Amino acid sequence: GFYAIEGVDGCGKSGMVGFLVDHLRSFGLEGIATREPGGTPQGEQLRSLILSGQDDAWDPHSELLLMTAARIEHVRRVITPALERGHFIVSDRYAGSTIAYQGAGRGMSEDFIRTLHAQVVGDVWPDLTIILDLDAEIGLARSRSRLSASSVDEGRFETLDLEFHRRIRQSFLDQAARDPARHIVVDAFGTPDEVRARVAAALDAWAAR
Ligand code: C5P
Repeated sequence: GFYAIEGVDGCGKSGMVGFLVDHLRSFGLEGIATREPGGTPQGEQLRSLILSGQDDAWDPHSELLLMTAARIEHVRRVITPALERGHFIVSDRYAGSTIAYQGAGRGMSEDFIRTLHAQVVGDVWPDLTIILDLDAEIGLARSRSRLSASSVDEGRFETLDLEFHRRIRQSFLDQAARDPARHIVVDAFGTPDEVRARVAAALDAWAAR
């Protein structure tokens, strides 16, 4: 199956990707973790282009098209081939992030994002998206302290904008509410162990549905 993990900056996605991969492998399944933007050499180059500049380095339309270009390569070269081999994919972000960041965050219409996706990526959506839901202010504080602790600055200026983060969080919640069969929302406030336990319980419930 195809799994995506989404959430605001600072929600603890990266640790959860590894946990989910281990969880799926514990059932004897084979598969890999990957990420967006990124996941292929082409996509990683686009990631540096998009994320290394200032907040306003790209017009929102350009940003949307660059994100989408990275996704096309990711889907064609990695995701679809893996799924065809019967492997699972756990992606750290996917198109839900584009709806949230480039859509709700930067003002691109969700209809346009979905139409573009249908035209150039195709009908490729995760079987399940796990949204790690966290108060925007807490996420912001977490990513701020991470930024100041690192000289590699992948977060952009907007990482510091609370209103922007609130729109991102709300967009993820809206996406889940509109398509509840393919989303689970997990409270990401707490220790990593607590959040992992919630994810494991939610996954079991989803698998048994
Ligand atoms: O979650 P990750 O650390 O991979 O994200 C890197 C940065 O890219 C984050 O600051 C996130 O806000 C941004 N991003 C974005 N639009 C996307 C995906 C990620 O602005 N579609």
